[in-house]
Amino acid sequence: MDGGDEADTFQRFLRTQGLKLTSQRGAILERVLTIRKHFSAEELFESLRADTQGISKATVYRTLALLVQAGLLDEHDFERGHKLYERAGNHAHHDHLICVSCSRIVEFHNDEIEALQEQVAREHAFEMVSHTHQIFGVCPRCKREGGSRQRRAASRPRAPTHPS
Ligand SMILES: [Zn+2]
Ligand SMILES: [Zn+2]
Ligand SMILES: [Zn+2]
Repeated sequence: MDGGDEADTFQRFLRTQGLKLTSQRGAILERVLTIRKHFSAEELFESLRADTQGISKATVYRTLALLVQAGLLDEHDFERGHKLYERAGNHAHHDHLICVSCSRIVEFHNDEIEALQEQVAREHAFEMVSHTHQIFGVCPRCKREGGSRQRRAASRPRAPTHPS
């Protein structure tokens, strides 16, 4: 995929906001389209900073918000105040398991859970538009490494990730 459709979508959305697809916004979109995992604004900024002249953190944050509004990115708030992004429509709908110790994210899809959520919405006379389902727990790796480490890590505001 060359990202042409996404660029069109983004450009159309920006026009409705009275904004233009500037070269920096274009560069941010282009980079985002190459990422195949969940990423933070900081990670994106670090990756762009190396080869995009004059790019600022503020521009990256603002453009990410616009990409979410344009429906090109999904935004997840897995940890308070620490948002992660992933491409919308990149792969089929999925939900997330999040390790509270190392912040590892596992994606899952379960037809029964999906159907149950529809059912709950219907029971409350809601027409479901979207949902996010997040399960917080301790991943197998952290469980193996033992509970003491896990308790310490969980009390920190932002747990470190495992070196991979
Ligand atoms: Zn779901
Ligand atoms: Zn873990
Ligand atoms: Zn995901």
